[in-house]
Amino acid sequence: MIFRNDDIGYHTKLDEFKRVNDIFLKHGVVHTVAILTRNLLKRQDLIDYLKEAGNFDCQFHGHDHRDFSQLSWDQLMEQFSEGKSAFELAGLPPAQIWFPCWNRVSVLAEEVAGVFGLMASWEKVSLDYYIEHKGGVVHPVINFHSWYIHEQLILEDALVIYKQLEK
Ligand SMILES: [Zn+2]
Repeated sequence: MIFRNDDIGYHTKLDEFKRVNDIFLKHGVVHTVAILTRNLLKRQDLIDYLKEAGNFDCQFHGHDHRDFSQLSWDQLMEQFSEGKSAFELAGLPPAQIWFPCWNRVSVLAEEVAGVFGLMASWEKVSLDYYIEHKGGVVHPVINFHSWYIHEQLILEDALVIYKQLEK
């Protein structure tokens, strides 16, 4: 399973984000983050933490939080190339997965993602759904937002189920 936390970037509150990641660390689970790269370089504190915590898998969400299914070739090229260079300048390993904003894709957007070596991934379940079904889900991606209080509160239940099933 991939635990996918969206919208990490310039606006992320580091204290809150660290508290959530502490739950991942406690259970020894990889924390996948879908990053927004606009102004990411102004958040050296966040970049340092992403590199130092040791359990992050950093992937791409968007340069801006936009509906990529509505963008033209040129707009898509700009989004993906800005994203790629922000990852490089931040010293993060290159992203391999594009988790689209609102999970919206188009054939064109997938094609441009491919130019940058990214595979689009938009199928997912929610944390609530995963817990409700006691981990018995088909889609391998669980999507959540660490800024969302409800999901902060139930995250540990999901990780416990995940670790139980892993045994
Ligand atoms: Zn988002």
